[in-house]
Amino acid sequence: MTPARAVVALGANLGDTRAALDEAVRELRALPLTSKVVCSTPIASVAVTLDGPDPSKPGYLNAVALVETRLAPSILLEALHAIEERHGRVRRERWGDRTLDLDLIAYGDVTSDDPRLTLPHPRAHERDFVLAPWAEVDPDAILPGRGRVARLRDELAAGAS
Ligand code: ATP
Ligand code: CA
Ligand code: CA
Repeated sequence: MTPARAVVALGANLGDTRAALDEAVRELRALPLTSKVVCSTPIASVAVTLDGPDPSKPGYLNAVALVETRLAPSILLEALHAIEERHGRVRRERWGDRTLDLDLIAYGDVTSDDPRLTLPHPRAHERDFVLAPWAEVDPDAILPGRGRVARLRDELAAGAS
């Protein structure tokens, strides 16, 4: 099996967010059957709640890591959840504050509508905090089913103005 290119979004808004992202990248590098982990520069973003952006909440630090892996998508997601748990992630309300969130944005060009693992991540195309760091590490990136990440960013910016 040739390795697949997977795209992982990292986010944190509680505790030492910079340390959590750095450690998470080290833990990605330590995963079995996984190599060539390249992580973007972290960027700051405003917390988004179910009611929309909320600047009164602790801000997020976000990054995107590219990995080459022979782990199957569901196994990779389990590994991401295990890393989150080691960082004290607790799941309470949807989109609540968190010490670490690791989302599998894409796995090669695999598509899945399983709610336990939807691929590509169904909200990635509307999140500049995912698209911007992704474009930094891969300027030619394509979000399967949606097109070039650079174009999606332009569309988001046009929609926001
Ligand atoms: P969002 O998915 O909008 O970014 P979230 O990251 O806060 O929200 P979580 O509470 O971390 O959501 O995850 C909820 C569930 O989403 C998980 O139990 C997981 O099984 C499922 N899920 C489905 N597709 C994916 C994916 N591509 N990456 C990560 N989790 C996924
Ligand atoms: Ca998320
Ligand atoms: Ca998540």
